[in-house]
Amino acid sequence: MSFQNLNVVDHPVVQTKLTELRDYTADHRKFRALLDEIASLMVYEVTRDWPTTPRPVQTPLERTTGRVLARRVTLVPILRAGLGMAEGVLRMLPDARRGHLGVYRDEKTLEPVSYYQKLPPDIAATEVLLIDPMLATGGSAIAAVEFLKKAQVHSIRFVCLVAAPEGITAFHRHHPEIPIFCAAVDRQLNDKGYILPGLGDAGDRIFGT
Ligand code: URA
Repeated sequence: MSFQNLNVVDHPVVQTKLTELRDYTADHRKFRALLDEIASLMVYEVTRDWPTTPRPVQTPLERTTGRVLARRVTLVPILRAGLGMAEGVLRMLPDARRGHLGVYRDEKTLEPVSYYQKLPPDIAATEVLLIDPMLATGGSAIAAVEFLKKAQVHSIRFVCLVAAPEGITAFHRHHPEIPIFCAAVDRQLNDKGYILPGLGDAGDRIFGT
């Protein structure tokens, strides 16, 4: 199956950690640590083509010109599972601001319910990384991007760990121009909206609930 505007980070180190993460015997401490590490590693691929701008710098020996990111960065985890990737991303992008979008999935209808939004006031001018480990039905991510677009954000990348084909299709039906970055595309959703083979409920595994 091939998808447009989808980037799979198939780096061997990421894949090794993802396999350990899928293992049901990984407790919340190990799960959190692995997710955090994968999030850091994924930043390299997700940001690879971001524009840079020249900046003069004085080394101990002479003056030269380096390059720095051209635009400020805002990280927006979708609550609550997105929090599990936030610190790992921030470690690589420590100057990033952080917004939060709270969206949960109604367990009966599987529809997204938005319950919290807090974004930096000048988010529109920044590069936004929207993060949520699981792209399942796509409902939460679709709703979160709609909210960011209403806030006039133009540069959005959606970063997840595992994506279901159904979620990718639904997301790009609504937002075809938004790139998706993931570490794996899994087989399918089950009738409860869980990804197969997946890794279970990411929020529960992160927080030990
Ligand atoms: N959310 C999860 O945490 N896991 C899934 O498999 C699907 C949605």
